[in-house]
Formats: sequence, C-alpha cells, structure tokens
Amino acid sequence: MRLPADYDWDVLDPRQVREMVPLAGDNVVSGVHFHFGGHANPQRTSQAYAWAAQDHGARILQHTVVTDIATIGGKVTGVETSQGMIGCDALVIAAGPQTGKLMAMLGIDLPMAAARAEMIVTEPLEMMPFTGVDGNGLYGRQTLRGNLAYGGGPHEWMGDVPFDHEPPRPSGSVTRNLAKRVAELLPKAAHARVIRSWAGVIENTPDGRPVIERLTSPENVTVATMSSVGFGLSPASGHAIRDLVMDGVCSFADLDKLKLSRFAGLRADWRDHLNWLPPKPVDAVVSTAVN
Ligand SMILES: Cc1cc2nc3c(=O)[nH]c(=O)nc-3n(C[C@H](O)[C@H](O)[C@H](O)COP(=O)(O)OP(=O)(O)OC[C@H]3O[C@@H](n4cnc5c(N)ncnc54)[C@H](O)[C@@H]3O)c2cc1C
Repeated sequence: MRLPADYDWDVLDPRQVREMVPLAGDNVVSGVHFHFGGHANPQRTSQAYAWAAQDHGARILQHTVVTDIATIGGKVTGVETSQGMIGCDALVIAAGPQTGKLMAMLGIDLPMAAARAEMIVTEPLEMMPFTGVDGNGLYGRQTLRGNLAYGGGPHEWMGDVPFDHEPPRPSGSVTRNLAKRVAELLPKAAHARVIRSWAGVIENTPDGRPVIERLTSPENVTVATMSSVGFGLSPASGHAIRDLVMDGVCSFADLDKLKLSRFAGLRADWRDHLNWLPPKPVDAVVSTAVN
C-alpha cells in the first residue's frame, strides 16, 4: 500500500486493531490507522448544501432536464430545458455520469464511463471507538446511530445513461456479496441484519481523477466531474468551481493536472482496453431431456 507522505499514520498489530475496532475478529493480520479523514451522511449533507445555497439566493429547479446548449459568438447564452430556455452569463456543467453527454452538446469530447454502485446498511450495533473502517475491498463507516453503512467494488459497468433513465435499484446478488464481505471484515457483526440498501450511477474518467476546468472556448463554461469520489471532494471542488466561474482561476490549488487536455492522446478503444464494459446479456440455456 502506498501511504501519503505528509500525513500521520501508524501501523497497528492485530491486538491494537481489535481494541480500536471491537467488531473485528481473529482473522485480522494488521491495520493502518490514518490520523486524518472523516465521514458524513451524504443525504443530509447534500440537503444541507441545497438549503444553504437557497439561503444565499440560489433557485434550484428539480425535474428540469437540459436538452441543448445555446451559444452565440463563442459564448454560451443559455440552456434549453424541459421547462423552456434559461438564459445565463456563465454555465457550470456538473451532471455526474451525464457530464460527457452535455459536453458533447458543445462538440467537446469528455471520456467517461458510468457504473452502478451500491451500499448496504445494517441494523444498529454498539458504537466502536473508531467508526471509519475500510478493508476487504469495502469502504464504509458506522453511523451515529450505530448502523454499518458499506459499499465497494467491483461495480457494474453501464453503457449509455439516458437523461430520462429510471434510477437503478439495488440488486440481490450485489447486496449479498457486500454483506458477505462486511461479515468477513467485521466478523462480530456477522449476525447483524441488512435493513436497507441503495444504488446509484457513478461517473468515471479513464484515469480516475476529476476534470475541473474553465474552458477557453466557450470561455464562460466550467466543467466539473469528480470520477466517483465527488461526495468527499465536494467542499474543495465547490470552492474551486466558484473561483473559476467568478475569478477565472482557483485561489488555493493548481488545477492544471485536472484539465481535459490530458486525454488528448487517449486511444479510441480505452473502455475495451480497461475492460470497463457492461456485462454481456446471458443467453438462456435450454436443456432437452432425452430418454
Ligand atoms: C452507492 C454510491 C456510493 C458512493 N460512495 C461515495 C463515497 O463514499 N465517497 C465519495 O466521495 N463519493 C461516493 N459516491 C460518488 C458520489 O456520489 C459522486 O461522485 C458524486 O455524487 C458526484 O457529484 P456530482 O455533483 O458531480 O454529480 P451527481 O451527484 O451525479 O449530480 C449530477 C446531477 O446532474 C443532474 N443531471 C444530469 N443530467 C442532466 C441534464 N441533462 N439536465 C439537468 N440535470 C442533469 C442529475 O440529475 C444530478 O442531479 C458514491 C456513489 C454511489 C452511487
């Protein structure tokens, strides 16, 4: 494992892991304690951001689909939506897995692949001293109520994600696999019942890093897509997007490495090359009994 140089971390022996994570079992080999990081409830956090934006005068239009982008003289002048044309001085394209489709309306190629991801939540368990515990291919946390909320790959790659797509539902096979791996990671939680699960579509760029850039043409457009870790990055990326729209430059970080131009030499078959392909439909097997 490559550990970050500028942050504090300790390697733990199995006894130390079990003290910090009482739901761990005798199968622990070792652990690493990062003295940084954090976790938060995504639904509550997103709602809080929405309310805060409204407090600052933002108007949020839900169920309003952008279907086209209008440009005049090298600048975007508005977006055509299912509720009619909305004019604008500046446009931010941050449409998650559909960011590539919106960029294509401007004739710009943003290579992206969508994947279906799922999380499970168990019934509440006794609180552990440390509540952000990753491992066994999983990431997750113990919530303030004691529930374990866990997700992790491999995710299911998807083809095109239309704007009017029905949101994906959690599937039994994936949630069962997550539950099995949670029980392996935290054997003393193996008895806990899964009470909830949810699924969504995550956005992925070919190198797994965000694209955050104010374009040069049209020059009043900023694109922002986070490549599947957009929740954790949202405070910093929101600040950066604000800076790019208002000031044309980010005030606190060099964003050059996150420019779209890094994909200029990307091979056309990059998805095949990475094997980021939707599962092939399985042909029905029909067996005929022969007496
Ligand atoms: C199950 C699951 C677990 C995850 N776990 C984590 C995690 O632990 N940590 C983490 O950092 N990230 C996690 N993520 C990823 C994270 O949710 C995304 O990276 C993040 O939501 C991306 O934010 P975004 O605002 O760029 O895009 P989105 O959240 O996808 O929002 C895009 C918005 O644009 C809208 N939109 C799309 N097309 C159009 C259109 N044509 N017109 C109008 N609106 C449109 C969509 O409706 C949506 O509201 C997880 C995702 C899933 C599904």
